[in-house]
Amino acid sequence: MTAWEENVLKVVPYVPGEQPKEKDIIKLNTNENPYPPSPKVDEVIRNFSVGNLRKYPDPEATDLVEALAQRYHMPKDQIFVGVGSDDVLAMSFLTFFHGKKPILFPDITYSFYDVWANEFEIPFETRALNENFEIKKEDYFCENGGIVIPNPNAPTGLACPVSELEEIVAKNPSSVVIIDEAYGDFNGESMLPLVDKYDNLLVTMTFSKSRSLAGSRIGFAFGSKKLISYLLDVKYSFNSYTMDSLTIQIGKASLEDEAYFRAKVNEVMETREWTKKELEKLGFSFPDSKTNFIFAKHESAKAEDIFEYLKSKKIYVRYFKRPRIDNYLRISIGTKEEMEALVAELKAYL
Ligand SMILES: *Cc1c(COP(=O)(O)O)cnc(C)c1O
Repeated sequence: MTAWEENVLKVVPYVPGEQPKEKDIIKLNTNENPYPPSPKVDEVIRNFSVGNLRKYPDPEATDLVEALAQRYHMPKDQIFVGVGSDDVLAMSFLTFFHGKKPILFPDITYSFYDVWANEFEIPFETRALNENFEIKKEDYFCENGGIVIPNPNAPTGLACPVSELEEIVAKNPSSVVIIDEAYGDFNGESMLPLVDKYDNLLVTMTFSKSRSLAGSRIGFAFGSKKLISYLLDVKYSFNSYTMDSLTIQIGKASLEDEAYFRAKVNEVMETREWTKKELEKLGFSFPDSKTNFIFAKHESAKAEDIFEYLKSKKIYVRYFKRPRIDNYLRISIGTKEEMEALVAELKAYL
């Protein structure tokens, strides 16, 4: 190691799912929405004047925050927006997990949490899900420096009842509890109504999955006025202009097309239920997904072998070589046609 390297922050980065360059593939590996965003988004992009790019964007992303305020019936000072919920979550870790006690999250969960904890030097401990991949609320009834739980959880796809998560929040008045609802739109139960009851609850959401806008990078969070104001202070001490002016308008347009949003979320959920039945017939089992993916294992075939076979047939799913889950495949829900092609290939293989 050279002398200056002693002073370098060394981190093991998060590894996202592959984004293959080939065109004719079926991509079911990163939980993207198979449908395009609302036509209203298309309109915004076509009518956007490049002259706008001369100026800095609105650091408060007012148009987007106002549209979120309307859609979710929340006051503007209880809303935070960022460049995807990854940005919102990273800023939240930095802001709220600044104590000395370890933060807590499940052992099987979104694999970015430990990366941020290491990067920001936040001590952490994981709490093991039970054998059915369920969260045991009692695991979180102890001293801690903060809690983060996705609901529904990823990559398991399982939702925890809001009443149990509420108990966790209520029992932890001295730490911030973050509920990551990246897949909340496919679940139907949200912690959002509780943010006015608990000033230590932050609920994060994203446009990446349910709104087909992973490429635009829009995430947001709801919390008490106090939480949001601490979060904004940290954000403005880091980089004020994180969301560009076109993206702010794209987000607003998406929120204004409620009918399209509902229709596409429903389509994904219908295809999910169809896929569950087909996978069961083929000998797969899985937790009952409330997301836009299914976390499945086969009764005899090895997940890694199925993964390699599907890849050779240009169907990409996600495989995690990690303890407890190395015999599972995480399969994103595509269009009905894509899922039919997947089922046909699985039949051929098995
Ligand atoms: C996808 C995902 C995110 C991040 O989404 P963004 O694209 O950054 O908005 C956060 N948490 C979970 C659990 C996810 O699956």
